[in-house]
Amino acid sequence: MPLPEPLPLVIASGTERMVYLVASKSRPGARHRVDLLANKGASECDCKSWACRNWPAIRDGKPAGTKETLCRHGILARRHFLNLLLQTLAKEENE
Ligand SMILES: [Zn+2]
Repeated sequence: MPLPEPLPLVIASGTERMVYLVASKSRPGARHRVDLLANKGASECDCKSWACRNWPAIRDGKPAGTKETLCRHGILARRHFLNLLLQTLAKEENE
């Protein structure tokens, strides 16, 4: 019997714009909700790490898109979105 396809690390929420569901590393099968547009584009995640470390940095005005303001899930969601965007732009470039 073939093994089931592993689910992608990052998937679009499907119902909310710019919201991604990112696989948890510590809890197999669980996903964290990442809203890339929250906090003026600095993003928001529902994990403990974001609440304890990243949110205070965002609140203190640290620059968006850095390790200080993004948890692992935020980094993966941003990368996923950027890859899709660049692939779309590259495709348009060749049309
Ligand atoms: Zn997170």
